[in-house]
Amino acid sequence: MSAPGCAAATVGAEDAVSADAADARSVLVGSHPPHRRRGPAPVDLGWADRSPDTLEIAGLTPMSTCDWPGRLVATVFLQGCPWRCTYCHNQAILDPRTPGVLPWSDVTALLARRHGLLDGVVFSGGEPTRQAALADACRAVRDAGFLVGLHTSGAYPNRLAAVLPYVDWVGFDVKAPARLYREITRVGGATTTADAAFTSLRLLLDTAAARPLDGPPLDVQVRTTVDPTVLTPADVADLTAVLAGIGVEDHVLQEARPDGTTTEYRHALAAVRAREAAR
Ligand code: SF4
Repeated sequence: MSAPGCAAATVGAEDAVSADAADARSVLVGSHPPHRRRGPAPVDLGWADRSPDTLEIAGLTPMSTCDWPGRLVATVFLQGCPWRCTYCHNQAILDPRTPGVLPWSDVTALLARRHGLLDGVVFSGGEPTRQAALADACRAVRDAGFLVGLHTSGAYPNRLAAVLPYVDWVGFDVKAPARLYREITRVGGATTTADAAFTSLRLLLDTAAARPLDGPPLDVQVRTTVDPTVLTPADVADLTAVLAGIGVEDHVLQEARPDGTTTEYRHALAAVRAREAAR
């Protein structure tokens, strides 16, 4: 779920150590002021009322400058995703049956060390709204004085609704025009994933618009990874027009990359790129 151009999920202590060193250097530059906001009072979230200790965490990047544009963040990768996108470069963390490899206490310990140094935490995946403890985790991050960002494809509209009260920024992936969604996500019926995604996007835009002017804003960036094995330039233009029509103001196109994808996809992408180059 992390943006192409960002590193994929960083797992394990060695990576954390090297990122810590880079983080320390950035601290000396001192260009990222801390932000402290208290979250709203706890409410009964039903499905989402679960301890962050139950999160299945697939990886933790201690410092990222690209997972939330303009912010210096730690990124928490949550295990599992219900979709199987053609170009997914996080194949290793898609299976929801795979247990996490890091405890939540690793995240809280990192935040305790980085107070005043990081702007916030981004929850990515996989599909982070799959996990019931996400809302409490977002609330805990805010209570610790950090902003909360979320990467989602909107697979679970109701679960997205449960976490949005504790989120400051959403990077929302829109895969394709609705008629082509399943070609990318490769699960469900003809319109299942498109219906979920566009319902979530409507919910997100409405929630952002309804945030009170004197409270924390909810910023939204809509991103599309352009998969040339499915989408033509005309399809991308269609999608851009649809998104503008429903009120999307910030739509970013990203190039599909071969790294981390399946062998099948790497071959398909290479064939398309070779045809394009031969024209
Ligand atoms: S939504 Fe698609 S790209 Fe994102 S993690 Fe799931 S399979 Fe990968």
